Amino acid sequence: MTYETVIGLEVHAQLLTEAKLFCTCSATFQADPNEHACPVCLGMPGVLPVLNQRAIEFAIRTGLALEGTIAASCRFARKNYFYPDLPKGYQISQYDEPLIRGGHLTIDVEGTSKEIRLTRIHVEEDAGKSIHGENLADRTKSYVDHNRCGVPLLEIVSEPDLRSPEEARIYLQKLKTLLEYIEVCDGNMEEGSLRCDANVSLRPVGATELGTRTEIKNLNSFRNVQRALEYEIERQTDILESGGSVVQETRLFDADRGLTQSMRSKEEAHDYRYFPDPDLVPLQVNAAWIERVRQGLPELPEMRYQRFVTAYGLPEYDADVLTASRELADYFEAALSLFKQPKVVSNWVMGDVIRELNRGHLTPSQSPVTPAHLAGMLQLVDDGVISGKIAKTVFDEMAKSSKTAREVVEEQGLVQMSDSSALEAAIRQVLEANPAQVDEYRAGKQKVFGFFVGQTMKATQGKANPKLVNDLLRTLLDGAS
Ligand SMILES: [Zn+2]
Repeated sequence: MTYETVIGLEVHAQLLTEAKLFCTCSATFQADPNEHACPVCLGMPGVLPVLNQRAIEFAIRTGLALEGTIAASCRFARKNYFYPDLPKGYQISQYDEPLIRGGHLTIDVEGTSKEIRLTRIHVEEDAGKSIHGENLADRTKSYVDHNRCGVPLLEIVSEPDLRSPEEARIYLQKLKTLLEYIEVCDGNMEEGSLRCDANVSLRPVGATELGTRTEIKNLNSFRNVQRALEYEIERQTDILESGGSVVQETRLFDADRGLTQSMRSKEEAHDYRYFPDPDLVPLQVNAAWIERVRQGLPELPEMRYQRFVTAYGLPEYDADVLTASRELADYFEAALSLFKQPKVVSNWVMGDVIRELNRGHLTPSQSPVTPAHLAGMLQLVDDGVISGKIAKTVFDEMAKSSKTAREVVEEQGLVQMSDSSALEAAIRQVLEANPAQVDEYRAGKQKVFGFFVGQTMKATQGKANPKLVNDLLRTLLDGAS
C-alpha cells in the first residue's frame, strides 16, 4: 500500500519585546541565570499579571501579515501542568478564545505555489529552563533558570496541509523570513527564539480520514525538522506495513543519532485543565487599534519580490535571492539608490557580497563593503576608470580594508589604461612577439583576434580599457599590412 504523509506545524516564536509578557523583567536571555526574575514571573502568592501591550501589537502585526482574523475580544487561560521550570504550576496561554484565527502562508514547491492554511495564532508565556548537572560542578543536581519564564511567545498553528518534510522545511523558512521582515521575532533558531513541534501521520493514498499522529517536540533547525520528519515517516511506514498501528504520543528527536524516541503518551487538552485566568480581564482589540498596526506594517516579502521583478526588471531568481532576508533587500536597494543599474548591482550582491558575508558569518548590515562603497566602485567601472576585471581586485581589497574604491584604486595604481599611445605601444609589442598568429589572422583566421586581446590584457595586468584594446587592435591588424 502507498501512504500519503500529512504534516502540521506548531511554531513558537519569541516576540522581540523588551519586557516579559506579564511583568517588567527584561526578556533577553543574555544574562546570568535568574538575573531577570521577579515575584510575578516566579509566581509568588498574591501577585497580579499586567499584560504587555507591545506583545499584543506584535501578535496583531503577525496576524495581519498572515491575513488571519483578529478577534475583537479574546481571553487568556491557564494551562496547568507540573514541571520544575514552571513555578506557578500553570502557563498563561490562550485556549478556546485565541487572538487570531485563520490566515495562510503561500509556499513555493518546485515552482508551484501552495497555500498552507493556518488554524490559529495565540499569545502565551514561555516556561523557564531546567539545567541538568552534566556540565556543572555538581553533576548530581539539576538547576532552574527563570530568565525565560514569562517571555512572550506566539504560537502559530498550521492546518495539516503539508505533505512532505521538504514542504515543512520550506514553510518554516518562509515563516521565519516573514517574522523577521515585520520585526516581531529575530528568527534565531540556535538561541531558541524560533522553534517548532511537528505533528505527522500517514494515511493510505486517497483516504480522507487522518491517520494516528505523533508529535515531535522542539525542533530547532531547518535541517532537524526535515531529518526528524523523514525518520518518523519511515518509522510509521514500517509499523503500518507490518500490520501494526501507530500510537498517539509525543516524541523527541535525537539529532546526534538521527532518530525520534517516545517521550510520553500524548496529552489531551483535558489533561491540562484549561480555565480562563481569573487574574486577567478579557482582552479587547478595537478596529482603530488594528488599523493603526496595519498602517505600521512594512512591505512584506511577497510584495517586495513582485516589485523587484516589475519595477527593476530583475529575473525572478534574483528577486528571490535578494528578498530572502529583509536586510539583504535593504542592502541591495541602498546600493541601487546610488548606482541605478539593477541587474549590475544584483550580480555583485548575489556574487561577491554574499560570498564575503558567508565567509565572515556576517549579516548584510555588517558587510565590510557598504552599499555606498559598492555603488562607488560600480560607478568607477561605468566611468571607465577601472575595468570590470580590476573591479574584482578592488572589491576584495575593499572587503579587507573597508576603504572606498577610489582610495584602493589610487593607492594601488589600478586606474585603467585609456591612453591610446601607451596602449598602442603595448599592442605593437604583442604583435611583434607573435608573428605567426598575425599571419594567421591576416590569412582570414578571425578567431585569433581573441588571443591578441587576451595577450594585451595580460601585458597590461588587466588595466587596459577593453574597448580601446579592441579598436586599436583592429586598426593595427586591418590597417597597414
Ligand atoms: Zn518578572
